[in-house]
Amino acid sequence: MPEQSPVPETTVPETTVPDDGTTPAVCPNCGRSFVTDRQRALHVGERHDATPAERRAYEDAREAESDELFRLHLKVVFAVGLLYAASVVAGVVAFSLPG
Ligand SMILES: [Zn+2]
Repeated sequence: MPEQSPVPETTVPETTVPDDGTTPAVCPNCGRSFVTDRQRALHVGERHDATPAERRAYEDAREAESDELFRLHLKVVFAVGLLYAASVVAGVVAFSLPG
């Protein structure tokens, strides 16, 4: 039997963030961290008393989010229209087949 390696008394998890030159977005009021600055701006604007600069960042983030949502809706409408057109074409072809 090989001797079992002893369990280390303290296990330090490796939780370092890769240093890619970007600072993590951290809320200055409650210390919560976010993946993007936009998420942080939205959080500060909604949860805390935002300074005028933070308020502006919040509104910019809101606008960017609604732009993205609008583009997503366009894509969904386009995809649904494409599906509908495909089903109409398939129906026309099916009914015009002999037999
Ligand atoms: Zn916060």
